Amino acid sequence: MTFFAAVEMAPRDPILGLNEQFAADTRADKVNLGVGVYFDDAGKLPLLACVKAAETQLTEAAKPRGYLPIDGIAAYDKAVQRLVFGADSAVLADSRVATIQALGGTGGLKVGADFLKKLNPAAKVLISDPSWENHRALFTNAGFEVGTYSYYDAENRGVKFDAMLADLNAAAAGTIVVLHACCHNPTGYDITPAQWEQVIAAVKAKSLVAFLDMAYQGFGDGIAEDGAVIQQFLAAGVENFFVATSFSKSFSLYGERVGALSVVCASKDETARVLSQLKIAIRTNYSNPPTHGAQVVATVLDTPALRAQWEDELAGMRQRIKQMRTLLAEKLVAAGVKQDFGFIVRQRGMFSYSGLTKPQMERLRNEFGVYGVDSGRICVAALNTQNIDKVVAAIAAVL
Ligand code: PMP
Repeated sequence: MTFFAAVEMAPRDPILGLNEQFAADTRADKVNLGVGVYFDDAGKLPLLACVKAAETQLTEAAKPRGYLPIDGIAAYDKAVQRLVFGADSAVLADSRVATIQALGGTGGLKVGADFLKKLNPAAKVLISDPSWENHRALFTNAGFEVGTYSYYDAENRGVKFDAMLADLNAAAAGTIVVLHACCHNPTGYDITPAQWEQVIAAVKAKSLVAFLDMAYQGFGDGIAEDGAVIQQFLAAGVENFFVATSFSKSFSLYGERVGALSVVCASKDETARVLSQLKIAIRTNYSNPPTHGAQVVATVLDTPALRAQWEDELAGMRQRIKQMRTLLAEKLVAAGVKQDFGFIVRQRGMFSYSGLTKPQMERLRNEFGVYGVDSGRICVAALNTQNIDKVVAAIAAVL
């Protein structure tokens, strides 16, 4: 008997498993719409010009790599705050936001989850039904019981908003509610600003803890547009809420693990106390964050020319995704598909819940080499002018 004799094989990550299957597929015209990664029209992962320029600048002035402070690069944390809350935000002027550099958006969620578990061990967590799969796993691993609030409306292609609101209003005080700030993953359906007002009213009335996950700022309708929900929370006077930020997609810096967690507090003093606890969560998980990615992002955000270039490049990615949505919907009609796919254009962000069933997704994969998730989720950001006709023909064939 070895110590590990009783260790069971963990289930494979469904999306990574799909990638392995895709890699092993020998068909030359295979298409991977499974992963949540933005590819350009040539099907390549972009290296943004603003990132390259910032890296050149950093290399020329290369510095030794000491440990960073536990909460990361101060200039980076400040730049994140200005991006997320607005440069002239009153909460920033009042020092009411604790921001820490995190290992991607996932790291921000995890640090927040550990902090919350210590603060209120009995709280439950609610995630949307469905949600990014890691939300459930991450909060469960942090020790929480995780439930769901209604979200996807398969019948009407949208959000079951009344049911969502009813679920939030039925939650116990202190329940942690994970909300997608924009570009809902996996469905692609966001709620409207008027609906957000009602969610915020429920958060206030029921004393819920809102944890906004903002992994796609700039991928929906624009940086400010996608961040507008934060302004709504501030304007409504919600004193405490969480925002996890990811730059994986918006800077195409997936492998650098650049993200942040911001916690809005009621006073400067409260912010200092919260920050001290966030630092304990970091210190006991990974001690302190890495330098490179955050330096790149801070340089881009704080250098006006690079910032303008980033905004252009981000707009380019956003517009290309929208073009692919329009094209996909149009080409399905042109291919004689009777079913209405107009919803694809209304969805936001990288993903589309296509409404295709598991057997249809299997046929797409097996017969046509078009890989999407069994839930019917496809990554619109992996479509391009070269592969779209093939994808349309395959979808038309399996319907
Ligand atoms: N939240 C959501 C909703 C996501 O889709 C993702 C990335 N797929 C993340 C968080 C995590 O982002 P990161 O890779 O920066 O950890």
